[in-house]
Amino acid sequence: MELEKNYHWKIKKIKAETSGVQSLFLSCLEKRPEFVAGQYLTIKLPEQVPAEGKAYSIASNPAEPLVRITVRTIGTFSTSINKLAIGDEVTTSAPYGYFYPEPEDKTPLVLIAGGIGITPCFSISKDLLEKNDPRKIHLLYSNQTESDIVFVSEINELSSASDNFSVTHFITRETPHSTGYQTGRLSGPKIIELTSYLDQPEFFICGSIHFVRDLWTDLKNHNIPQENLFTEGFF
Ligand SMILES: Cc1cc2nc3c(=O)[nH]c(=O)nc-3n(C[C@H](O)[C@H](O)[C@H](O)COP(=O)(O)OP(=O)(O)OC[C@H]3O[C@@H](n4cnc5c(N)ncnc54)[C@H](O)[C@@H]3O)c2cc1C
Repeated sequence: MELEKNYHWKIKKIKAETSGVQSLFLSCLEKRPEFVAGQYLTIKLPEQVPAEGKAYSIASNPAEPLVRITVRTIGTFSTSINKLAIGDEVTTSAPYGYFYPEPEDKTPLVLIAGGIGITPCFSISKDLLEKNDPRKIHLLYSNQTESDIVFVSEINELSSASDNFSVTHFITRETPHSTGYQTGRLSGPKIIELTSYLDQPEFFICGSIHFVRDLWTDLKNHNIPQENLFTEGFF
């Protein structure tokens, strides 16, 4: 795969996820580039700044027939993406990035997502479960309100379908009404307590730069070795 090559895609389906968040399902107009669950594409839009485009993690796993990009409307660029329609074409880079667990490694995984930072974590979870990978995965997913939880039913289905996958939802700005959901912000000690049943897991943290930086620092300060911490900051 040529890293400099552009890929052209057609939007086959659009799904509203939560308020201000939607998924685009893309079909590649040429041979689809291979990707590893956890990687991202840079979407390039004509007449949008920056011309080199912006990064969007792939939310589907490689076995799915369409590539799913899930975008929260924040500023100009994401608003333009979320105005695209079925049948429109988009141009992207090749898939990039190193936010993924090594395929041959069987270390348990703690995936920590803040808001739209769920996208690569969702892809990684589906990929490992689909491959019957034996490692245990615990997803800790933080949102402001219950209605902000992107992919909620799909994630809860993964958890019902596999003993290897657990999820704990954290709600920071309201008292959750669903049973088992936790109130308040994630912290290093809370993450360590909830995942203490896992043997020396690797921690993958994805979300806004503040979310990622604060949790990386807190986990490191609570004796999680730096080599077990992996991050993807959305900016
Ligand atoms: C590797 C990578 C993967 C990404 N994957 C996704 C993805 O799967 N889905 C997605 O929606 N976005 C993703 N992003 C973010 C995306 O690239 C854009 O930054 C985002 O869409 C905002 O661009 P904008 O031009 O619309 O807003 P901007 O005009 O850039 O932002 C407006 C304001 O919002 C702030 N801001 C930007 N992004 C966030 C955020 N995520 N949380 C809180 N505040 C923010 C900015 O600092 C700025 O103050 C990813 C970023 C990276 C680096």
